[in-house]
Amino acid sequence: MDIEEALERGEIALYKLDELLGSSVKATEVRRRFLERRLGKDLSALRSDLPFDQIVGRNCENTIGAVSIPVGVAGPIKVEGTYARGEYYVPLATTEGALVASVNRGCAAVREAGGASVAVISDAMTRAPVFETPSVGHSVELAGWVKREQERLKEAFSETTRHGEVLDLKPFVVGRYLFLRIEARTGDAMGMNMVTRGAERVAEKIVEANPWARHIALSGNLCTDKKAAAINWILGRGKTVTAETTIPRRIVEERLKTTPEEMEKVAVTKFYLGSARAGVLGGFNAHAANVITAIFLATGQDPAQVVESSFCLTMVEALEEGVYLSVTLPSLELGTVGGGTWLPAQRAALELMGVAGPGNPVGTNALRMAEIVAATVLAGEVSLVAALAAHHLVRAHMRLGRGWGSKG
Ligand code: NAP
Repeated sequence: MDIEEALERGEIALYKLDELLGSSVKATEVRRRFLERRLGKDLSALRSDLPFDQIVGRNCENTIGAVSIPVGVAGPIKVEGTYARGEYYVPLATTEGALVASVNRGCAAVREAGGASVAVISDAMTRAPVFETPSVGHSVELAGWVKREQERLKEAFSETTRHGEVLDLKPFVVGRYLFLRIEARTGDAMGMNMVTRGAERVAEKIVEANPWARHIALSGNLCTDKKAAAINWILGRGKTVTAETTIPRRIVEERLKTTPEEMEKVAVTKFYLGSARAGVLGGFNAHAANVITAIFLATGQDPAQVVESSFCLTMVEALEEGVYLSVTLPSLELGTVGGGTWLPAQRAALELMGVAGPGNPVGTNALRMAEIVAATVLAGEVSLVAALAAHHLVRAHMRLGRGWGSKG
């Protein structure tokens, strides 16, 4: 059978090509060429040498190529953490002109100030299956049973993974429904597949022992994955990380062209007053999402988790000797193994940061990455708060974001 002709006649579906051709590399080409003919468009810019035979079945289906995103480097950022200690270069994938330059300027200010002190406060990925029970009484009973039997449930979870470990099982009763927020350590993986697999086993055990309970869905949204939710802001999800620095007055004035007092004023009015009036959830910061998104894209993280990973509370205080800044990220969800982290360019970006692959001991690479990311978010905050205070924002964006770079 001529596959291209069969496609034209609508006799085979595009997604079947991998199986029919025995190669996802070939299928990728055939699909894109079919679309070119069908739409009368040149799609050759989507061509890619990526290893589609390994990608399909892991990262993407119905592949037609790849898009590339410019990657800039910021840093080095000086980090004084538990896992990250030293200076690190940070890859930023972005199409927003001025972003890399701005973060780079912040890294320099933090470095000159002696670095960022960083700590990971907690580390647990979550999944929350939901169960239906006959009544409120049954839901309360089930919550009690889960608490009593938690060791058994933790063991059941552990049978599904070598690296995952349940830390806590938090039941939430809502009428005759019970949501069970399972919190687990996931080593160097972001952990969503790992925890979801383990949660399924836990759900099976629950229903086995309590046949009147019905498992409705493996994700009941109390997890909460890829949605802005107060539960992540309060309880944390993935890594909860906090970073601080104090920048001497001389550096604020000479390098950042402003004063500690003006920076504090911007923070108070923008982060607290403005965000409060707007009813913002998790967005008491200047642009944490810029830094998180750019690092996530460069290093193969799940980009949809930028929703909660960019939750950030930034504090700015003017002191006699300079300006104190801290950032607190309650739900930073990232990994150095799994997901898209094995893809060649993403892996190289992780290598650049010194955090590719599994850590020794397990989990330490992801924790190191979390500390570097928090320090870089801090650098981004330093730079943007200062730019706002000095009224430099528009000038930088016009110069670096509108193709006017060479014209000054
Ligand atoms: P994964 O690629 O599914 O799994 C990571 C694998 O790495 C596990 O099989 C683990 O084995 C192994 N591993 C080897 N060394 C490890 C180490 N040092 N630390 C931890 N694990 C190690 O990755 P994941 O992080 O669980 O899931 C990420 C993927 O889930 C992303 O592609 C994301 O887009 C997707 N995702 C899924 C859902 C969902 O509901 N399923 C939701 C959102 C996102 P063991 O398990 O045997 O330990």
